Amino acid sequence: MNPNSEFSAELALPPLSVYVHLPWCVRKCPYCDFNSHEARGDIPDDRYVAALLADLENDLPRVWGRPVHSVFFGGGTPSLFSAAAIGRIIDGLRSRLNLVPGAEITLEANPGTVEHDCFEAYRDAGINRVSLGAQSFDDEALRRIGRIHGASEIDRAVESLHRAGLANFNLDLMFGLPGQTVAAAVEDVDRALAHDPAHVSHYQLTLEPNTAFHARPPRLPGESACWAMQEQAADRLQAAGFGQYEISAWARSGAECRHNLNYWRYGDYLGIGAGAHGKVTLPAEGVVMRGSKQRHPRAYLEALDTGRWLAETRAVPAAERVFEFFLNQLRLRDGVRATDFGPRTGLPWSAAEEAVEAAIGKGLLEWSGQRLIPTGTGWRFVNETQALFLPGDPA
Ligand code: SF4
Repeated sequence: MNPNSEFSAELALPPLSVYVHLPWCVRKCPYCDFNSHEARGDIPDDRYVAALLADLENDLPRVWGRPVHSVFFGGGTPSLFSAAAIGRIIDGLRSRLNLVPGAEITLEANPGTVEHDCFEAYRDAGINRVSLGAQSFDDEALRRIGRIHGASEIDRAVESLHRAGLANFNLDLMFGLPGQTVAAAVEDVDRALAHDPAHVSHYQLTLEPNTAFHARPPRLPGESACWAMQEQAADRLQAAGFGQYEISAWARSGAECRHNLNYWRYGDYLGIGAGAHGKVTLPAEGVVMRGSKQRHPRAYLEALDTGRWLAETRAVPAAERVFEFFLNQLRLRDGVRATDFGPRTGLPWSAAEEAVEAAIGKGLLEWSGQRLIPTGTGWRFVNETQALFLPGDPA
């Protein structure tokens, strides 16, 4: 189907999520470009929890009454915060927001920071999904990428998850690690699957600017080896009953990450915490707002006294809204929901038409009902498809 002007171009409220950023780590990994900071001494957890709730209060007028479908504690290493501190944050969210029953509440955890009984306490605090940063089961590979844990800590953490009844957990795995062979990368997937996760994130190590690895690049496997790792991992995951719903994300049916899906489908999210980004649609004003909070934990904590939580806020211009709408949906196996375009961008379909036609013309996208899905080629070359939607580069 080729849609047209019958699609609404009126902004409407998309689902709302909340992202909570906890910025400290035991040690900075050499490949990491996240807003994470080595914890020197004790984390000021009481003050930080107070800051998060004050930050949230400041954001509330923009989202009054809206149901919240998911909460994600990311970092940094959120599992450096005690279950009691996480519980205080969740209670604070519940008392200020309309958190729907059964909302997905995810905690990112580092296998090197969780004690044996911890997951039961996090579960009791309200966590119902855990994303465990395993990365690899090869101790030497973990050492080379600067992780603070070994394979035995992952095994213990997963046992603890199962004991706590937290079956809805993700294992993060990286491939293309320094010195890694294809067989070793596949072995990582097999060991992950042996732990019976509900979800596996499988992504390639990349050298990002402003990281230690970027300054002193390690020797990484070549392109064809990485492609073989990806293909063989896909075979293993498929055979184990996992579906690839996003380029790097695999899940058992029904265990797809609701929080990430909302983000990828251009939903709204409040971002609270140091450097957290947010996106909020304001239909009455006809704008989509983006903002980010004070980035450094010190500056963020100072906002408790100054009230200056925001580092930046702006209305997203029309051409960027087109790009943003397509950017992440093009990474989804079930593609782009064309009927969402108008309500989520406030723009007529004609604003996207030229780029869409170019992508179809190049054999990268095709229509399936009211969705645009990547073809086999489009799935392999997502970056090329995304580039067609860049502002000012329609074809
Ligand atoms: S544990 Fe995660 S957030 Fe912390 S430095 Fe390593 S990759 Fe970055």
